[in-house]
Amino acid sequence: MRIIPEVHFSFIDHPFRKPSFVLYFCGCFRNCPGCHSPELQNPYSDLCQTVTTEELISVLEYYREKFRNKITSIVLLGGDPVLYAKDIVKVFSYLKKKYVLEVVLYTGELFENLDADLKDVVDLVVDGEYQETLKTGSFPASANQRIFIKEGSNWKDITSLVSKKL
Ligand code: SF4
Repeated sequence: MRIIPEVHFSFIDHPFRKPSFVLYFCGCFRNCPGCHSPELQNPYSDLCQTVTTEELISVLEYYREKFRNKITSIVLLGGDPVLYAKDIVKVFSYLKKKYVLEVVLYTGELFENLDADLKDVVDLVVDGEYQETLKTGSFPASANQRIFIKEGSNWKDITSLVSKKL
């Protein structure tokens, strides 16, 4: 898979503003006008590197230890991480068996179109491509985008709850 080979630390990318690791995936073919990260639309951008699932697991375990296991959320951004859905399933099904870990996924894809095995390894999804004409100036960035949270084996649309709080 193609990613920016650094894990960032952030308070602002998690929908509930939780301290999180942030991982950027490279490649998105939607070409939305006003895209927040046009430099990451090209999967072969010089900013990005090819890593195997094993390498990504090692990187994430390294950062986990570096932060003394205190960060338990990871935010997957892009680009569109869903281009690498199979790799994401492999990496996080392995890590979630070992650690308590919350996975937040941002994708241009609609929630309804995500594969069940991908939904199994993520806990929060912010879906939908960015539409400049629906720009909110807040969160989510455009009014078509929605936020879903996993509760047990069910998913709940919490868009109105989260956007009201911000
Ligand atoms: S889906 Fe997101 S990353 Fe892809 S072009 Fe649109 S805004 Fe950019």
